[in-house]
Amino acid sequence: MCDQRQRSFALLGFPLGHTMSPPIHQRLFALSGKSGSYNLFELPLEQLESRIPELFACTGFNITIPHKLNIIPYLDLLSPTAQRYGSVNTVLCDDGAGKSVGYNTDVDGFLRSVETLGADLSRPVMVVGAGGAGRMFAIESALHGAAVTLAVRTVKPQTEKLREDILSAVPGAQVTITTLDRLPDTNFELLVNATPVGMYPHPGVSPVPASFLRQVRCVFDAVYNPTETQFLLDAQAAGCKAVGGMSMLVWQAVVAHEIWDHVHYTPEQIGGIIQEMTRIVDEKFGVPARQNPDGRTDTL
Ligand code: NAP
Repeated sequence: MCDQRQRSFALLGFPLGHTMSPPIHQRLFALSGKSGSYNLFELPLEQLESRIPELFACTGFNITIPHKLNIIPYLDLLSPTAQRYGSVNTVLCDDGAGKSVGYNTDVDGFLRSVETLGADLSRPVMVVGAGGAGRMFAIESALHGAAVTLAVRTVKPQTEKLREDILSAVPGAQVTITTLDRLPDTNFELLVNATPVGMYPHPGVSPVPASFLRQVRCVFDAVYNPTETQFLLDAQAAGCKAVGGMSMLVWQAVVAHEIWDHVHYTPEQIGGIIQEMTRIVDEKFGVPARQNPDGRTDTL
């Protein structure tokens, strides 16, 4: 695993399936000129405690399901966003004062992706889906001043709880809950898909009717496989500015390198990595592969 004598990094998660993290991080190390190996640490939850010393021998590591919450007791400090969501996806093992710090760069991944669209988050935002990702997208939008509409297939206690969480983060925020079969006829600055609808191995479907996209200026789809979802294709056809989940995946990794190495990448360099990773996913999951799913799920 990680070796304290050299700069090594890792992804902690289970299962790691078709993770895109190694090629993304290897490209980022190559561009920054910093050395660093990037290893997979595929570990079921029950083995986390016994492997902690190996993990913290890394210079830094990333975390995905199911460890984003469970890593927290092992950390000395948390960034404000990691604290806000109780979720850590990036760790710096030594901040220079001997402390380990947990960050949530998924938040940056989302914010920087919608920034590339020129979306104004102080205007109305609709988030489809109220799970883990939808919760973060909705709260971040409200923190930027958006009136937030949560669109779900069925209103559940979890949806009402999210409304309360938004109001507790942003007292006085305007939060509306609607169901997908009763979408409002008002306009939205940004529409976000925070559901797995359209994701491999079930592409070709969208969470909202194509006609609804005429009311929307910008679109973000958290799904990154396929890289061109039906939702994105419908959005482009309706004239929306649109970006897919690969952008968020790459940006959250970029911010991890900013934390680990204090490096800076140009928008052109990041755009190049997004394109390269899009090509890899398209090649790996081309039509024949999609017709023959191997049964493993994608993990970020
Ligand atoms: P999650 O916690 O399981 O939440 C999924 C949400 O989608 C729930 O609200 C669920 O509603 C809803 N949903 C599921 N199937 C649906 C359907 N057929 N129609 C309408 N709504 C449906 O998942 P998550 O972690 O938030 O992730 C959501 C999506 O974001 C996934 O595709 C994930 O891969 C993607 N993601 C991408 C990135 C990235 O970096 N690009 C990062 C995080 C997540 P119910 O409660 O009714 O089931």
